Amino acid sequence: MAKPSFVVIGLGRFGRALVEELIKLEAEVLVIDKDYEKIEKVAKALTNTVCLDSTDIEALKEVGIANYDKVVVATGMDVEDSILTTLILKDLGVKEVFVKIQSEYHAKVVEKLGVDQEHLIWPERSTGIRLAKVLVSNSFLDYLELDDDYSFITIKATEKVIDKNLLELDIRKNFNVNIVALRRDYKIIIPSSKTPFEEEDELLIVGHNDNIKKFTKWLNGRKVKLS
Ligand code: ATP
Repeated sequence: MAKPSFVVIGLGRFGRALVEELIKLEAEVLVIDKDYEKIEKVAKALTNTVCLDSTDIEALKEVGIANYDKVVVATGMDVEDSILTTLILKDLGVKEVFVKIQSEYHAKVVEKLGVDQEHLIWPERSTGIRLAKVLVSNSFLDYLELDDDYSFITIKATEKVIDKNLLELDIRKNFNVNIVALRRDYKIIIPSSKTPFEEEDELLIVGHNDNIKKFTKWLNGRKVKLS
């Protein structure tokens, strides 16, 4: 299967961070901004950059925008430009359009234009929600909500697991969560059932939120009833 191709329109802080990460992941990405200086800043790392105004339908046609798989509209504060760009992308038949949202009103209009709700990007909101969860469960090093009920977390190993392995701990049976990997010395390791956990290990865990809560309580020395 061919690698998916991406377009990022708008190189504000969000757009730039996105582009830098896509480059690191070796993705094929076309970058568009109407400000030539912004384009110049990323041009060294990229071959595919175009300086154009994304509200100009002819310019977008010329770069063959409809041939790309996923287009991210990150044009920033200018909601009008974002809406018009989205409308044009939809009209030109771009399959998947993602839009960085500024306000509820912006979101409503963009949804009316046929953008899926899951493709609306609320950077501030997502960061806030994420931070709240990290603060509440301050033992988590990282947290990713997979859906309403399931999450992926990273948590530091404690004495409860150090020098023990998955077989002895029977985490899956006792807590119904999965330790899918661990990070040791900045490397990811997939533990076998007999790999002993070490101090400083970070455990990468997937599970139902209730079970994760129970597991992390236990890991931090609090009393819980095992399944
Ligand atoms: P961030 O938090 O990501 O910085 P922001 O809302 O502050 O978001 P801006 O700094 O406004 O973002 O950056 C938006 C970028 O989008 C700018 O580089 C701007 O030149 C570009 N942009 C805005 N409108 C258009 C357009 N119609 N066509 C192409 N690029 C555009």
